[in-house]
Amino acid sequence: MNDRFKPNSLAARDVAYAVHPQTNLAEHMTSGPVIMEGGDGVFVRDDDGRAYLDVSSGLWCSSLGYANERLARVAYDQMCRLGAYHTFRHHSNEPSILLAEKLIEMAPEGISKVLFQCSGSEANDTAIKLVWYYFAAKGQPEKCKIIGRERAYHGTTIASNSVSGKRDMHVDFNLPLSMFRHTEFPNYFRFHQEGESEEDFATRMADALENLILDEGPETVAAFFAEPVMGAGGAVLPPRTYFDKIQAVLDRYDVLLVADEVICGFGRTGNMWGTETYGLKPDIMTCAKALSAGMMPISALLIGERVHEAMLSQSEKLGNFAHGFTYSGHPVSSAVALETLRIYEEMDVARRTREVGGYMIEQLRSLYDYDVVGDVNGVGLIAGIELVSDRESRAPLDLSSGVMARLDREARSRGLILRLIGERLAFAPPFIITEPEIDEMMRRLRPSLEAAFAKA
Ligand code: PLP
Repeated sequence: MNDRFKPNSLAARDVAYAVHPQTNLAEHMTSGPVIMEGGDGVFVRDDDGRAYLDVSSGLWCSSLGYANERLARVAYDQMCRLGAYHTFRHHSNEPSILLAEKLIEMAPEGISKVLFQCSGSEANDTAIKLVWYYFAAKGQPEKCKIIGRERAYHGTTIASNSVSGKRDMHVDFNLPLSMFRHTEFPNYFRFHQEGESEEDFATRMADALENLILDEGPETVAAFFAEPVMGAGGAVLPPRTYFDKIQAVLDRYDVLLVADEVICGFGRTGNMWGTETYGLKPDIMTCAKALSAGMMPISALLIGERVHEAMLSQSEKLGNFAHGFTYSGHPVSSAVALETLRIYEEMDVARRTREVGGYMIEQLRSLYDYDVVGDVNGVGLIAGIELVSDRESRAPLDLSSGVMARLDREARSRGLILRLIGERLAFAPPFIITEPEIDEMMRRLRPSLEAAFAKA
């Protein structure tokens, strides 16, 4: 065991036995873990009793906070009744049926079926398989390339990571796979040219997508993946008119749209779906995270009619829809998700995120007091801030100075967990956050920024 830590302590045992995702494993040997022990509303508490306000709800998913007795009771009751059974070969269970029905009730027009998985990555991986299945059914198996966007994140499995545009996550994993392409990162603040309006920038982004499709050959391009608001790309909102123009390009070349609602779904953008907020017409939507308030691993694909018809005809021809996970439609996860959706209905979640989100964005805009704040933008209860070294010229921060790591430390020392993505800060607190709690977040954020940048 590592002798930096008290013998037999949880920290020592963590370092001795556990591998942590998205962590510098070598550094972990000396830093050890932050062990979370409990939660109370929007605050999560470590094993030293320190309470933190995490501005992005853990990994964008703890929409109802970190502990919830009502959901616990539902899980307990379901485990006592039927704690596990699969949905392969025509089997089903009540919670997964009711949850599928509820999701279709909530889904945008044109979406007619639900396929459950366990994580966002699995949902996106499966969406890619369904796109291939669809074009195989249409007799166009060569139409198989998938286009994502630079800096987008759609998951960590082989295909979902391939469609993601986070290049650091491809290195030395032999990714992306050969049929994946990436188009422009539509960050208007960072990439617009002098005098270019948001609308003109959106036109340039749509032209770039169209040129990519034409270069590849439209007969080889199957689908385009997009989050309505890019979450792990830095909480980046689409520029005005972007999705109208993108949708027109996709329609022109018969390219399917997969909307990744893993972060945006269930009210995050001020409507039930980010798709609604921006008028997208997806063939497939994927959702996870807030589906179960992050309390149980569950995700879902919401499938449009034309894709489902192809699935029907393929499985009739082949004798099986040869895809599935052991835990697809798991009764306990489904029961918890169903209860979560009931809670969202009771709290009128989209109205709430619009209202409290409006307040949060207004407070974040007050940070323009600081010269390092280049851009603040948000919708519903999600917002992004881009830090700069000079606002006038939009000169980027020098990330090699270590200033973002310093900001992280300063914030943590004040009980605030920030989501730092390169030079951006992303905000997506739990849906239950109140205005006084947002004030508290600002009381911790301002001195953290001052301390980190004063030292810079
Ligand atoms: N899609 C988006 C937009 C995400 O933000 C994430 C995770 O953060 C995923 C997919 C992957 O989800 P999971 O980590 O549940 O596999």
